[in-house]
Amino acid sequence: MRTSRPLLPGLIEACHAVIVSNADHLGELDRAIGDGDHGTNMKRGSEAVYAERDQLGGLPLPEALEKIGMVLVTTIGGAAGPLYGTLLIEMGRGLRAAGSGDGVLAETLPPAVAAVARRGRAQAGDKTLLDVLYAVQQAVLKQSPPAEVAAYAMSAATDTIAMKALRGRASFLGDRSIGHMDPGACSCALLTGSICRFLEEFPSA
Ligand code: ADP
Ligand code: MG
Repeated sequence: MRTSRPLLPGLIEACHAVIVSNADHLGELDRAIGDGDHGTNMKRGSEAVYAERDQLGGLPLPEALEKIGMVLVTTIGGAAGPLYGTLLIEMGRGLRAAGSGDGVLAETLPPAVAAVARRGRAQAGDKTLLDVLYAVQQAVLKQSPPAEVAAYAMSAATDTIAMKALRGRASFLGDRSIGHMDPGACSCALLTGSICRFLEEFPSA
């Protein structure tokens, strides 16, 4: 199996950069339909992973993904921490179970996204980060090029504007949650865009 070096530290840096530069925006989105902490939560998690990027880069990819997931659970907090954490932990476990082979990482997405859905007791259309994860999963399984995957992700996040939140803090607002983009969907689309841009520059990754 390909080791995570030097791809992973670069990916971590790209994810960190997009979260830091959009933390205020994510906070504003969460102020509109939540409690305003999504930007600071994501930034805290991102900083913790960023600080460990070199050690993580030295681990085989399955272990690195699981470790990142655990760091995210303990540092992001809120609702999003366990959800992003579950995604990464399950991808790492799936990758380890599957062994080597091209396209294996993509195949870990459906069970990992399903685990996120179980964890949040959420489904498509509930106006959460899951709406973006499903779009990404679909695009990745279709083997869409990275730029297309990123576009699908942002389009799915934009689609949450018209939705009524059925899960998480925003669901307490009922109809008043309509008309705002879901903060978790936004962070998920931003991260996807950043990962896709990075991978485009590393076509052999
Ligand atoms: P909190 O809601 O605890 O303040 P954050 O603000 O960090 O946590 O994260 C909020 C985001 O988490 C939401 O915008 C939504 O995308 C996601 N989320 C919240 N609850 C759920 C859930 N039950 N299932 C899926 N995603 C959820
Ligand atoms: Mg919040």
